[in-house]
Amino acid sequence: MNIFGALNEVFYNDILFVYMDLRLYNTLTRKKEIFRPLKNKQVGIYTCGPTVYWYQHIGNLRSYIFPDILKRVLSLNGFKIKHVMNITDVGQLTSNADEGEDKIEKAAAEEGKKAKDIADYYWQIFRDDFKKLNIIEPDIWTKATEHIKEQIELIKKLEEKGYTYKTDDGIYFDTGKFKDYAKLAKLQIEGLEAGKRTEMRDKKNKTDFALWKFSDKPGKRQQEWQSPWGLGFPGWHIECSAMSMKYLGDSFDIHTGGIDHIPIHHTNEIAQSEAATGKKFVNFWMHGAFLVFKGKKISKSKGGLYTIAELEEKGFSPLAFRYFTLTAHYRASLDFSLENLGAAQNALENLKQTILELKNDNETGADPAMTRQMEEKFLEAVNDDLNMPKALAILWEVARHKKLPYFQKRELILKFDEIFGLGLKEIKASSVPTEIISLVEQRKILRKEKKWQEADEIRQKLEKIGWMIKDNNTGTEITKIKQDNP
Ligand code: AMP
Ligand code: ZN
Repeated sequence: MNIFGALNEVFYNDILFVYMDLRLYNTLTRKKEIFRPLKNKQVGIYTCGPTVYWYQHIGNLRSYIFPDILKRVLSLNGFKIKHVMNITDVGQLTSNADEGEDKIEKAAAEEGKKAKDIADYYWQIFRDDFKKLNIIEPDIWTKATEHIKEQIELIKKLEEKGYTYKTDDGIYFDTGKFKDYAKLAKLQIEGLEAGKRTEMRDKKNKTDFALWKFSDKPGKRQQEWQSPWGLGFPGWHIECSAMSMKYLGDSFDIHTGGIDHIPIHHTNEIAQSEAATGKKFVNFWMHGAFLVFKGKKISKSKGGLYTIAELEEKGFSPLAFRYFTLTAHYRASLDFSLENLGAAQNALENLKQTILELKNDNETGADPAMTRQMEEKFLEAVNDDLNMPKALAILWEVARHKKLPYFQKRELILKFDEIFGLGLKEIKASSVPTEIISLVEQRKILRKEKKWQEADEIRQKLEKIGWMIKDNNTGTEITKIKQDNP
């Protein structure tokens, strides 16, 4: 028994784990709650995906590593998952105030391409990043432009129930009619300045938002559709309500997104969904904190706005970035710098090296009680609202453990990696002999101490015995010098 209640056992990817109650922080209640799905062991999850008008930066990607960890932890707890993620390919405007240009239309005009090609191109790159970061893809990808009918149906339902009104630029949701509008964000509506969060124009309340926008000059936009209210396109928020409910039902278990979505996008999703169905929309709202640079949101002007490809060009591996994100809790902001990422890359390299050193040469002395104790500690950490920094510390405790036999350590580390997703199983044993690695390590220390001459002597010695070394951003590359045939 432990603080979470009775112990259970479960197989995940054919590996036996013990498990305990999973507790997740729910933004709705501002509390950690024991997670129970609406339907048996089936969990419906919806994640707000990106607007695919440009490359996703590493901040955006942090917001998708967190639901990936969530999914792995849910699976570990024996839950079956149906994960839906949208791709916004219409309707998100350059301003949150239902004004400005449609981001996809703007990119298409600037790049001289079709809106669909822009969206498909950047979506594909996003999926490539998923692969590189070992993020499990959603079961269903949904595109806003492929669900116009569902969005129109939902707006019609809201209209029938009297939640909408018309202005000269669109159909708006009347937030004054929805009693609990501020419940997720705990917004102080009174204090909101009109014009800051949303422009007033001819809206009834400053928090009202567009469900359908009229094309101001028909034919000017590439993407516009006929609707009962005229030619136009859907507002950004309605797509997530329409598509999540289509695939997961009127009420589902978990909705994830970045914290910036709490006050507007998710608040609006709840209002329009619950107004339409009269049912509770989502049980658990989970939000990931930002990746920051020198304490500020990463941005073009402040810095830190890298893509995964740009980090790769600088010699960092995508999985080093994944490791880096695991060093902070998903609800804490994480300070990005190339130095911090470098430290994460070194830690990951050390971990890989440790695994390689854990040879299967000591099959005796297994200590099942110790394994179970470590597993329980690990599960307690991940089931405590996905506490990955703590889980990483336990991983290192196992790696450095003085008493656990090698093979048992290896087994545990690989088991834990089912959650971390660092691809540790794929690490191939190096063909470099340990004496050579040890010389390279000695040289590394000498270089750190700025003992250049002694370090160079080791390099020469290595060359003499047939090993070439090359320093790069990720560490030292060791290659065997090809011998000419005699
Ligand atoms: P967007 O395409 O702007 O809607 O952003 C896609 C996702 O990335 C959203 O869930 C945002 O909350 C999230 N996001 C944007 N910037 C950051 C950041 N600096 N750190 C973490 N997540 C972010
Ligand atoms: Zn959304």
